[in-house]
Amino acid sequence: MELTTSCIRCHTNVDQTDFYCRVCGKNLRAKPPSMDPFTLAGLFIGSLLLPPFGIFWGLKYIREDNQQSKLVGLIACGLTILSIIFAVVGTMKIYTIVSNGVSNKLQEYQGL
Ligand SMILES: [Zn+2]
Repeated sequence: MELTTSCIRCHTNVDQTDFYCRVCGKNLRAKPPSMDPFTLAGLFIGSLLLPPFGIFWGLKYIREDNQQSKLVGLIACGLTILSIIFAVVGTMKIYTIVSNGVSNKLQEYQGL
């Protein structure tokens, strides 16, 4: 016995396990985001290196029903926020160093 349901767009009978309708291609259910270790490693590294995207990727996981996916999403968002904080603090530090350096040099030249 096969479990079937009908496509919400074209009403063709489709398997409950199908992700897409074979007739019209309608997405029958969202594919769960991958929990494969390599994908997760990529997700966390990506969250650190490409801050704005980590939030979107993280939200995709947080929206899932299972606790593990939610945790993955929270970690990805956390890493993204940390990365943004480091970027802002780092930029401010560099700016301070550069602007102090420039004003010291200017004073040296003006003193000549
Ligand atoms: Zn269909």
